[in-house]
Amino acid sequence: MTDTTRPLAAQARDILLSLGIAADRIAGGPLRVVSPVDGSLLAEAATVSAGEARERIGRAHDAFLEWRSIPAPRRGELVRLLGEELRRHKDALGRLVSLEVGKSPSEGLGEVQEMIDICDFAVGLSRQLYGLVIQSERAEHKLTEQWHPVGVVGVISAFNFPVAVWCWNAALAFVCGDAVVWKPSEKTPLTALAVQALFERAASTFGGVPAGLSTLLVGGRDVGEILVDDPRVPVVSATGSTRMGREVGERLARRFARPILELGGNNASIVTPSADLDLTLRAVAFGAMGTAGQRCTTLRRLIVHESVRGALVSRLIGVYETISVGDPLTSDALVGPLIDEAAFTGMARALDAARAVGGKVHGGERVNVNGPGSFYVRPALVEMPGQVGPVIEETFAPILYVLTYRTLDEAIALQNGVPQGLSSSIFATDIREIERFLSARGSDCGIANVNMGPSGAEIGGAFGGEKETGGGRESGSDAWKAYMRRQTNAINYGRTLPLAQGVKFNV
Ligand code: NAD
Repeated sequence: MTDTTRPLAAQARDILLSLGIAADRIAGGPLRVVSPVDGSLLAEAATVSAGEARERIGRAHDAFLEWRSIPAPRRGELVRLLGEELRRHKDALGRLVSLEVGKSPSEGLGEVQEMIDICDFAVGLSRQLYGLVIQSERAEHKLTEQWHPVGVVGVISAFNFPVAVWCWNAALAFVCGDAVVWKPSEKTPLTALAVQALFERAASTFGGVPAGLSTLLVGGRDVGEILVDDPRVPVVSATGSTRMGREVGERLARRFARPILELGGNNASIVTPSADLDLTLRAVAFGAMGTAGQRCTTLRRLIVHESVRGALVSRLIGVYETISVGDPLTSDALVGPLIDEAAFTGMARALDAARAVGGKVHGGERVNVNGPGSFYVRPALVEMPGQVGPVIEETFAPILYVLTYRTLDEAIALQNGVPQGLSSSIFATDIREIERFLSARGSDCGIANVNMGPSGAEIGGAFGGEKETGGGRESGSDAWKAYMRRQTNAINYGRTLPLAQGVKFNV
């Protein structure tokens, strides 16, 4: 384990060099990597040119042509070995996540655990890529449906889950017989380099993995665009802002490639009169302030019944006033830094906009923890007169807007009345209200939880959301189908040629 008393850059360097990453990939390059913990420079990472990016995509495509013929359970063995490497290096990778993104040690480790979990899931899946046998309408005929590898899967990821998102996609893609080309966030290339190194270790233990099966493209938006436009990439999974998803989705549509879009959320919780308020308080605190409000599933809107509003909000204000904000590496603070100055500016702008439409803001001020190069804030609770102004936007920072309702219909209308549709939740013990919320007339989100916040999903379920969240699904359930192509086969084992729908064509 790294010496945690060394400067952050030295710690990051120790971890990367111990994984075998060449020193020249993290020094002297054009991409400045800054730790949000204290604003210090961690590395200057090398980036790929447009030509190199295209060449690597070509190599990934060649790798796919070989990999697709390896039996799926054998492909699963590679993912099992990747899981082993992640277990072995969990502390180092978790620490690097904390250094590069500012997550608490527990959240950094949690992110790596999520990678391990999806590897385990994918190993089992490698023996369960089931097709179908369908009853044919014609005598002596059989219809089947089978799933084939689809090709190179492009993965574009956001800064806030710098490594787990790759694994959600890649673990499934590898067992499905695909190659993966990854364009990580330009804010988090170091954790990506570390993951690629762990993949290469797993590949060398496996033996015979075609070169380029997992390929990394470090660079900015321009490199992402090259991946999105390349005709050798039939599927692109892109995680990030709705702005990014709109651009990527349009470009993919132009060449009929398949998008898996995982975009912004604006997640709400409804607190009903029957809610257990002690449990609600704890869940709201984690949902709204955990990861400094920088999760796609962060709780951003609290829709509270008028009968419990007074009791809940006064207790919440107390929590907001006292929650610990501080250095995630040297203290037990529950709220760490924002990723950068732009995030802080965005938060300040949203709070001004809330005040301008009558919002009453508690907290939200900057806190000096590690000097002017880092951006820590006290989370903000904002009592709003209605769902107006910044409430309908996703501001990627710890702001919780509080709204009041009288009837459950009104609460559900508020919950659904935003452009995003990722995650949602209800706090209730009244079964009728719970089931109404989960019904077709209830939450319109991809995720709907009961008696917990909207934030923090398990890998076993399909993850993703509707509307401007993009419609993609990743991770568990049958999300694997997006990484394969479906083939329908009709087989005639008779001696006649009956046509479908009884059509006659006698020659
Ligand atoms: P971002 O949109 O700024 O960047 C995300 C990635 O997209 C980066 O790798 C970036 O280089 C790339 N990119 C940007 N424009 C591109 C383009 N035109 N073509 C190709 N690539 C492009 O997002 P961010 O600030 O890193 O992350 C925060 C956002 O991500 C929030 O909106 C959050 O809700 C969202 N997010 C969503 C999920 C989800 O699963 N729904 C998960 C994590 C984060």
